[in-house]
Amino acid sequence: MNTLINQNKGQIYTVLRQFWGYNSFLPFQEDSILSMLENEDSLTVLPTGGGKSLCFQLPALLKEGMVVVISPLISLMNDQVNNLKDMGIASCYLNSTLSSKQQRLAIERIREGKIKLLYISPERLQNRDTIALLTSVRPSFFVIDEAHCISHWGHDFRANYRNLHMIKERFKSVSVHAFTATATKEVQLDIIKQLKLSNPKIHVGGIDRPNLTYRVIARNQILKQIVGVLAKHTNEAGIIYCLRRKDVDVISEGLKSLGIDNVGYHAGMLDKERHIAQERFAREEVNIIVATVAFGMGIDRSNIRFIVHAGMPGSVEHYQQETGRAGRDGLPAFCYMFYGGADFRLWSFFAEKSYEREILMKKIKIMYNFCTQPQCRHKLLVNYFGQDYERRSCDACDYCLNELEMVDDALTVGKNILSCVVKVRQTHYGFGTGHVVNVLKGKLTDKIKHMGHHTLSTFGIMQKESEVFIRHMIEQLTGQGFLFKEGEFLTLSVTDTGKQLLYGEVSPILAMPLLAAKKKEIRKKTTERRDKEWAEIDQGLFQILREERTKLAHQKGVPAYIIFSDKTLKDIAAKKPVTKEAFSGIYGVGKNKLESYADIFIKVVKDYE
Ligand code: ADP
Repeated sequence: MNTLINQNKGQIYTVLRQFWGYNSFLPFQEDSILSMLENEDSLTVLPTGGGKSLCFQLPALLKEGMVVVISPLISLMNDQVNNLKDMGIASCYLNSTLSSKQQRLAIERIREGKIKLLYISPERLQNRDTIALLTSVRPSFFVIDEAHCISHWGHDFRANYRNLHMIKERFKSVSVHAFTATATKEVQLDIIKQLKLSNPKIHVGGIDRPNLTYRVIARNQILKQIVGVLAKHTNEAGIIYCLRRKDVDVISEGLKSLGIDNVGYHAGMLDKERHIAQERFAREEVNIIVATVAFGMGIDRSNIRFIVHAGMPGSVEHYQQETGRAGRDGLPAFCYMFYGGADFRLWSFFAEKSYEREILMKKIKIMYNFCTQPQCRHKLLVNYFGQDYERRSCDACDYCLNELEMVDDALTVGKNILSCVVKVRQTHYGFGTGHVVNVLKGKLTDKIKHMGHHTLSTFGIMQKESEVFIRHMIEQLTGQGFLFKEGEFLTLSVTDTGKQLLYGEVSPILAMPLLAAKKKEIRKKTTERRDKEWAEIDQGLFQILREERTKLAHQKGVPAYIIFSDKTLKDIAAKKPVTKEAFSGIYGVGKNKLESYADIFIKVVKDYE
């Protein structure tokens, strides 16, 4: 076995260099590849940008025969096949976008053994003709991409994934390899069980995305807050996620009225309009897309530099998946989430109607807790997916970058607020945030006089604090599970954990609201970090290289990142190669790309110099 591994190792490095132009593997890629080379079923969990595609594309080249990749979306298949073709690797897909003639041709090439990778949907796999075709060619192995879709416990359950156990039943000695970016332990076990994998090798990479900086901010004036984010990312690509279609329309129009070019995307638009929006974004004709979560799964644009959540997603899995679309090229990228209690209520409303109510409510609570818990965001995410976070500080979230000012005596603040809630409830059924804030501030409103709440010991106990501050504290105490908002009027009550807080047994962690001065300081630091990142790179040349890439992408009718990633363009803009030999040393330039593009980009460098 060891000899085999050593032989394979030599070969896989040669192929890596030759086709992909990379010199080394990303974490866990090599282990995952070896499972395929040794015909052992496997499950690989790697974060977005972790290089999952390469894990199965590379062994496909080393093995005899054809690999079958099950993929949930047509756009994903298109992108992968375009990418492979650009690298000189024979691949195709079978899906509804093919004419019957194209389909016949594809099947002919498969039969003749000319295809190394075939992409199909789970529905297509279960079709009788497809099974007959695959039985006749006997695939070298199967890949299940986005394997979390198989599990109810995941976040994108697809009924058609449920039947994929038929692969193991029909193709007994052929190995099956599942890939996903987001799978808790529960989902991992479910994938293995549903696919009937036999003694699978499990490769779970670090879920962490160190190149992403997370910021979580209470929402107030959302359009203004988004414009603030966009000002930090001029000329960069980003997705603005909204919870509802109408928010997409309002924000997209709002930005347009300020002269900010963008496209909207949601399921209420016509298929054609949506397709145009997605294409324009993928081809870098527009940099900003305002979308519901209907947008994204098929998007491989690797240079997305920022993600804005205009509302809180319904689960940490969704958050990880959506933010995961930023910075796939490994370069720094930024995630901003603007949340509010209304998001919690919106998701709860949907959950109430679902037969999976309990699972969904649990996920919503954890997500809300993530928003309101001032702690290292990387750590919280990594821990959620069942892994330890070793570093003491991530240097890439609002908490670790010291952008959050913590409340010194959070326990006292918590106790004051919670005891006020207990006291007002003693006199009447219950009161919402507004009334509790007024009592704590010591405001003599008619309602307070009428209820006699000005006689409570907590009346005016926080009179020195601003209303914004007290509201922010109540929101955090709710998110952290010390308070609960119930009923139509969102009346506050103290939970069991809240009672422990009143006894001083547990303490909340509370952050102050972000003040203008702090925001200015954060902006300054961000600019300094960016300047450092670009220190070695000729920015003028980089922009011209980008234009050349867009032009080429247009000519070829493919998304720009299929030609070269931003990381490759940055390497060119730093090293300025003027010979083919020098160009072959650029990051991400394999033999096919060298032949296709070296002359074109070398000319750009020469003209620029
Ligand atoms: P995933 O599917 O896991 O999100 P991708 O397959 O899209 O990740 O890969 C993300 C990026 O990383 C791509 O630009 C890919 O070319 C690049 N990549 C993959 N493997 C390597 C490697 N070994 N070295 C450098 N870059 C890599």
